[in-house]
Amino acid sequence: MAAAAQEQVDLGSLLRPQARVNRPQCAVCSSERVTRIALELEDGSQVDFTNCLDCDHRVWQQGDDVLSVERVLSKARRIPKAG
Ligand SMILES: [Zn+2]
Repeated sequence: MAAAAQEQVDLGSLLRPQARVNRPQCAVCSSERVTRIALELEDGSQVDFTNCLDCDHRVWQQGDDVLSVERVLSKARRIPKAG
């Protein structure tokens, strides 16, 4: 099938986008199989959430600072205090 062959060519070019992009890495296992999401919290903070697909390590960062989960939650203030 010609279609399948063409897909492979496209994939190949996708795999080398810009070599200078700083790839996020897991701080625990150094895996590059991480998901990184940029978020804006309720208080306006710009944070990055990184989730490692290999060891499931999760980290919140604001710039170069690592935020604790408690810190993120207090910034987010999304927990309803319904009694
Ligand atoms: Zn990891």
